[in-house]
Amino acid sequence: GGAAEPPPKLVLDLERLSQVPPEKAGPLQRYAATIQSQRGDYNGKVLSIRQDDLRTLAVIYDQSPSVLTEQLIGWGVLDADARRAVQHDEG
Ligand code: C2E
Ligand code: C2E
Ligand code: C2E
Repeated sequence: GGAAEPPPKLVLDLERLSQVPPEKAGPLQRYAATIQSQRGDYNGKVLSIRQDDLRTLAVIYDQSPSVLTEQLIGWGVLDADARRAVQHDEG
């Protein structure tokens, strides 16, 4: 996209996240719970996270940000629009 186009927000669907088996989603579930706790933001159905947090999560999952993003989209935890955030990041 153009330089004036802002990256899309990364919005986690917490209901979907809670439905993914913990052996797959455990690290992300704990990360999201930590952010909720730090913000005092407990009652949301969604959680907006930082672009930087996706990079951190990619290190935790030992994957590239784009591969992790595809996985989260596959789980229904991120919107397909989140792809543009990674393209923006790596492009
Ligand atoms: P902090 O990074 O020092 O941010 C202090 C406060 O600045 C935050 O308090 C929030 O009111 C505001 N703030 C900072 N960055 C943003 C932003 O991008 N958008 C908005 N809307 N506000 C922002 P808050 O929310 O109570 O968070 C307290 C601390 O919890 C933060 O201190 C940070 O250390 C941690 N935290 C909260 N949410 C996140 C997150 O999504 N990712 C990471 N890595 N840390 C977070
Ligand atoms: P939006 O960013 O499109 O968010 C729409 C709604 O999604 C929010 O309505 C809220 O119900 C939910 N939501 C999004 N991110 C989070 C999250 O991290 N935690 C929780 N608990 N809910 C979340 P809401 O709160 O009525 O906000 C309406 C609009 O007001 C937002 O639309 C956004 O444009 C603006 N807004 C609210 N809080 C912030 C903020 O911290 N930073 C900025 N820049 N805008 C905000
Ligand atoms: P947002 O609040 O609409 O902020 C959009 C972008 O503006 C952020 O993208 C960040 O680049 C910049 N920004 C906003 N407030 C601050 C600030 O206090 N300090 C700095 N250094 N930059 C700021 P980013 O980081 O990718 O965050 C995306 C969204 O995640 C934010 O949208 C907000 O909804 C949420 N978020 C991130 N960090 C925090 C936090 O500490 N507390 C809360 N309550 N929400 C956060």
